Amino acid sequence: MKKIDFSQKFKRIATEEAWAPADMLHRWRKLLDDKTFNDPGFIAMWGFFLTQNVGYTNGILDKLTDLGENRIADMDATGIDRQLLLITAPAVQAFRDPAEALDVAISSNDEVAEACRKYPDRFSALAAVPPQDPAAAAKEMDRAMNRLGLNGVVINSHTHGEYLDDSKFWSIFEAAEALNAAIYIHPQSPPPNMVTEFAKRGLEGAVMGFQVDVAMHTVALILSGVFDRFPKLKLVIGHGGEGLPFWLFRLDYQQKVILENRGYKLKHPISEYLKRNVFMTTSGMGWEPAILFCQQVMGVENILYAMDYPYEFNSEEVIATDNLPIPDADKLKLYQTNAERVFNLKG
Ligand code: CA
Repeated sequence: MKKIDFSQKFKRIATEEAWAPADMLHRWRKLLDDKTFNDPGFIAMWGFFLTQNVGYTNGILDKLTDLGENRIADMDATGIDRQLLLITAPAVQAFRDPAEALDVAISSNDEVAEACRKYPDRFSALAAVPPQDPAAAAKEMDRAMNRLGLNGVVINSHTHGEYLDDSKFWSIFEAAEALNAAIYIHPQSPPPNMVTEFAKRGLEGAVMGFQVDVAMHTVALILSGVFDRFPKLKLVIGHGGEGLPFWLFRLDYQQKVILENRGYKLKHPISEYLKRNVFMTTSGMGWEPAILFCQQVMGVENILYAMDYPYEFNSEEVIATDNLPIPDADKLKLYQTNAERVFNLKG
């Protein structure tokens, strides 16, 4: 690995770093063995990660389940001061039974909170919640924020094909706004009625399916009026805003000529909600042109650094981010202070 500069004047906070409870992986193996479990996206992704242990997947399950010294050694090797831990996708949303989803959310939040207590200078975490039971999700969010001291919530896009623009889920947004808890909409594979054409070309995952799904989900949320109803709601999306910064002009234009004629009456242009309510991270996009473009069109206050460990674990991406041709004050925002503000991290 190339050498990292450890004398920098900011903390590197990585904001989309994955972990997995061993118990959840065990339950996922049982799903793969269940012939009635029909989720092609899950089976393609986790059939691969849970059964292969070569090449890209070699050692990744060990890295996902470790919340201790090995993870910290990897952070030290790549100059990461703090990881914001997100339970890996699709997390509790894989389960059909809402009670099982809630049980795993509670136990995983307890486990990750314990790691944060043990390493307070190195780990913070987002809470898992079960959208399958929106009232229980809101209650667990409150427990995670107020009793466990976690720093927001992660929801892995759709839940068995249902998206959060359906108002039956909005107790989750009501709680998030009241608790000032950012919701990270992390990708998972597109749902069964969307995934087929991606999967037959190997495109259902991080290469493309994730991006299409979360970009659609984010715009769907804006069109649903959720941000007019909950104007202080904060969403976070990864991977350079899942391509949306590149689409701002077209989204606003199409809103005027097509969407308004189809009955979508929003208070503001789509781009304004993206700038006001949606924060974006650089996970998996350690690439100068993309980061600079995101900062230029979304604003330097809205872009946060992320690595996407252990799926991305590469010191060269950190070095590329360190070497961005931007003022030190903007680097401080990208790496540290935007994350501290959005996720209420204490310095
Ligand atoms: Ca990720």
